[in-house]
Amino acid sequence: MNRRKFLTQAALASSAIALSGCNESNREAIDYSKHPSAKEDESKRVNVNKNKKTMIKLATSWPAHFPIMGTNVEKFAQRVKDVSGGSLEIKLYPKNTLVPALAVFDACSSGQIDAFHSGPYYWKGKNSAFSLYSGIPFGFTAEEINSWMLFGGGLELWREQYAKYNLYPFMGGNTNIQMGGWFRKPIESLADMQGLKMRIPGLGGEVFSKFGVNPILLPAGEIYTSLERGVIDATEWVGPALDLKMGFYKVAPYYYSGWHEPGSILELTFNKHSWEKLSFEHKAIIEVSANELNSNMTYEFHSENIHALKKLHELDVKILQFPQDVIAAGKVALTQVIEELSVQNSDFKTVYASIENHLKLSKEWSDVSLRYFLNER
Ligand code: CA
Repeated sequence: MNRRKFLTQAALASSAIALSGCNESNREAIDYSKHPSAKEDESKRVNVNKNKKTMIKLATSWPAHFPIMGTNVEKFAQRVKDVSGGSLEIKLYPKNTLVPALAVFDACSSGQIDAFHSGPYYWKGKNSAFSLYSGIPFGFTAEEINSWMLFGGGLELWREQYAKYNLYPFMGGNTNIQMGGWFRKPIESLADMQGLKMRIPGLGGEVFSKFGVNPILLPAGEIYTSLERGVIDATEWVGPALDLKMGFYKVAPYYYSGWHEPGSILELTFNKHSWEKLSFEHKAIIEVSANELNSNMTYEFHSENIHALKKLHELDVKILQFPQDVIAAGKVALTQVIEELSVQNSDFKTVYASIENHLKLSKEWSDVSLRYFLNER
């Protein structure tokens, strides 16, 4: 069995588990911390590496137990420990406990830590091509970007480019489609976007800035207060599940559907030297567990979003769509941003060409299948 086939089957198996656990009565059914663990009968374990313990230091860009993103990394670490019979331990360092949230890339590259969990869009200052591994506005859905990564050449390009930084990435989950954000006032036309101060990072921020928005970067802890005081007029965050917890609806009641992050990938990245030192078995355990992490996080976002949306409806939050002139301006702006970055950076041009090729075919297929179905459902 080749590696891709093996990984795909592992992902399918974990999808089946996730789906079978997705109803109101047993939403906690796939909590792996409750599965066989170190507390179980040791004599039942079979493991050739049992007496050779390996420890990996993994720092994240999220606070401890951060919903969905952080908790799925915790489940991944437990899963690796369980499957390896305790011979491989991933010691987690939530943001700022060992390295600052946005220093994880450099800390891992230098070997201070063995691995990190974060988002590739944070590293566009190092190489603008890296932001593309999270996805692009008007681009891939979560399902489509997984397809590009695993079967369209995305992961190979990502590993080739990260190798220059002594890093070896895996997909580490997906936020699934994100919402366009929370606005203090309704947006009735493109004119209402002019000069608007909005917290929006990444390629989405660059696109919004092309049509008059002033993108602001703020630490997570300052967004609510800035919105409440009118320091910013709007913010995007993720989707109903995480947005509801931030309470944005109380101070910016107009909630828009989105197209700027239609399926953002998060990353589970290893120091290349630390990765290569691992045994064949431990590498296989991490590969399978990383695929499980990737699919579980995607589906948990979906599941939590549907329940949070119900609560937003109960709170009478207005869910709106951007006017057509804003969407048209967004598409023009995206083309400009891509042209500019492609001229500035040959890596960006290479990765975008690969995305463009897969996306063109994906759109044709999704139009005749998923779009048709969703319109008729
Ligand atoms: Ca976002």
